[in-house]
Amino acid sequence: MGKNARKLRPGELIIASHNDGKIKEINDLVSPYNIVAVSAKKIGLNDPEETGFTFVENAALKAHTAAKAANLPALSDDSGLVVTALSGAPGIYSARWAGEPRDFDRAMRKVELALIESGTEDFSAHFVCVLCLAWPDGHEEIFEGKVHGRLIFPQRGTNGFGYDPIFMADGYDITFGEMDPAEKHAISHRADAFRKLMKACLND
Ligand code: IMP
Repeated sequence: MGKNARKLRPGELIIASHNDGKIKEINDLVSPYNIVAVSAKKIGLNDPEETGFTFVENAALKAHTAAKAANLPALSDDSGLVVTALSGAPGIYSARWAGEPRDFDRAMRKVELALIESGTEDFSAHFVCVLCLAWPDGHEEIFEGKVHGRLIFPQRGTNGFGYDPIFMADGYDITFGEMDPAEKHAISHRADAFRKLMKACLND
């Protein structure tokens, strides 16, 4: 990691995600380096089941599976909301707390009820994003980004996605759901992880 990280060279980079928004965002970041981000879906790869017990394990699982299948470097991310008073829940299960089909009103309500039940006054939480860049030979580079803040109820704002309407980053008095998307993207856990990746793997 860091200074001695393996550099990403010009060419194709597989993005182990089926989220088109994410792929476009990553393409914008890497295209100045003559790297082309291609979605795993475009080359017919399926997402493996997330069987890990940590963000790092799940990110690594997705990136290594895609890198080996495509014989190209691959990038994955795994992210979630970590609530201090809930011993880190929902954590790696953040998407799963929304049920099937996904319903984040239900997931946010579940967080609120769990906090009320615990009797805690500690509403601190953070978002985590782990990026894994893996090569077909099994080499990997891992980067972790975080944004700290607190939860507020009832939810506020309609921007963003997931748990954004109940998360207020430290130093702000509006939620991610009320924040201008560009402002959120500048301070988010994902931006933090990407800055680390770009510094380590894209600049010589
Ligand atoms: P993943 O796609 O398996 O990594 O699941 C990530 C889940 O974490 C999402 O479905 C959201 O519930 C939550 N999450 C991750 N990042 C954010 C964010 O920036 N805002 C709100 N929720 C997020």
